[in-house]
Amino acid sequence: MSGKPSKIRPTIQAYHIATGGIYCPFCREENLNTPEPPVEYSGGYQQRVECTSCDAEWVNTFKLTGYISLINEEGEDIL
Ligand SMILES: [Zn+2]
Repeated sequence: MSGKPSKIRPTIQAYHIATGGIYCPFCREENLNTPEPPVEYSGGYQQRVECTSCDAEWVNTFKLTGYISLINEEGEDIL
C-alpha cells in the first residue's frame, strides 16, 4: 500500500456502504479489483479490494440481510 490514509472516516464509510462498494473510498474511482473470492468472516463474508487508480487496498465486509426465493407461488423457477 502506498501511504494512503488508514483512518476510516464514518461519512466515507456510510457513502461506501450506500453505493454498494463500487467506488474506491480513498479516490472515489471505479477501477477496483477483487483478487480473491470472498471468505467467511464472523457470521458474514469479507473480500479484499484493490484500487488500480490510487493503489489503495481494503477489505469489504458483508452480512446476510435476507433472501429471495427462486421459485414463485406457482412453483415455477423465477430465474
Ligand atoms: Zn482509489
